[in-house]
Amino acid sequence: MRALVLDAGWNPRPDYDLSDDERERRLAMNSSQTWQHPELAVEERERPEPADDEVLVRVRYAGVCGSDVSMLETDGEGYMHYSAYTKLPTVTGHEFSGEVVETGRDANLFEEGDPVTAEVTDYCGRCQMCRQGFRGHCENFEQVGFTMDGAFAEFVAVPEKLVWDVSELAEQYDDEDRLFRAAATIEPSTISYHGLFTRADDIVPGDYHVYHGAGPIGLTGMNVSRAAGAGKVIAFEPSDERREIARNLGFEHVYDPIEVDPVETMADVTDGAGADVHVETSGAVAATYPVIQETLAEGANVVHISNAGSDPDLALRKYQGNSAQLYGAEGHTGQQVYPRTIRLMAAGHIDNLPIVTSTFDLEDADEAVRRAAERVDGKVLVEM
Ligand SMILES: [Zn+2]
Ligand SMILES: [Zn+2]
Repeated sequence: MRALVLDAGWNPRPDYDLSDDERERRLAMNSSQTWQHPELAVEERERPEPADDEVLVRVRYAGVCGSDVSMLETDGEGYMHYSAYTKLPTVTGHEFSGEVVETGRDANLFEEGDPVTAEVTDYCGRCQMCRQGFRGHCENFEQVGFTMDGAFAEFVAVPEKLVWDVSELAEQYDDEDRLFRAAATIEPSTISYHGLFTRADDIVPGDYHVYHGAGPIGLTGMNVSRAAGAGKVIAFEPSDERREIARNLGFEHVYDPIEVDPVETMADVTDGAGADVHVETSGAVAATYPVIQETLAEGANVVHISNAGSDPDLALRKYQGNSAQLYGAEGHTGQQVYPRTIRLMAAGHIDNLPIVTSTFDLEDADEAVRRAAERVDGKVLVEM
């Protein structure tokens, strides 16, 4: 089968303290410290065999994520930007839809032909993190498209416990192609869903939500916020193209943070109240946190989702004075985040199709990642 394979040179930085696991398994916990000169190419690979607890999925669509881009981008010394987990070479791609074509000996939740998507993080269920309910932080995790072969390929094998049936999307998407396109955007939607509703505590209908950054995660998040009954959804995004996509989704409070004064704009839009929910989806934290801290509504929730390379100055007194909370949100495994996101899509409360702005064939999947690196698209999909 054809597959998009990422490889790089294992060359840990001299001052990086490698763990035993990293040394023995070449499983990078911080890829930006270990992998140099990444390369991405469409290659011929063996079709995977599903293990006993896995299902084999014929992939229909897979979305390019910011993490796929940052695994290809490098710093001045050629080290990968991506700072989380990888084991290379690997087939990348983790936001996907497809049909089950084969099931492992012990896998009985799905049947051939079922339309599905899957969670990214495989968890053991036995470690302390898993037993506390933090499966996304499993101590023995694997990740589809990062440490195990992913979905920019004709077929992907995934543990059945990560797989979710998406057939109810047919209530909204009568055309099968549209159904599979929409299903490939479930994963990015779950990132914000998890941040807003399993991490933050008391987000209620009528809250004002503001997104700092309207890239693919911000745009899909704005759809989640609207579906959840936000009073207003506000966004700051410097890219003209991305602001246009947000407006096409029906959002009217979308601003260029370079052109307007975001603090003044927030005061206008919220009539001086500030935002109840602040979502950091840009990574440009040195610019966004000063704005967030000046525009906290009383009791505001700040949900930190982006992967920033550095830390902002935190004005703790502002949080104290506004009874505000700062929630770190990472991963989105378990807690029924996927099935509830699927329900919102099936009910027509979330439609991500207008966010999809480019589609590439699998044979050009490396070009799809380079296109996403231009940071002007909503979501770039690869069609298998
Ligand atoms: Zn992703
Ligand atoms: Zn575990």
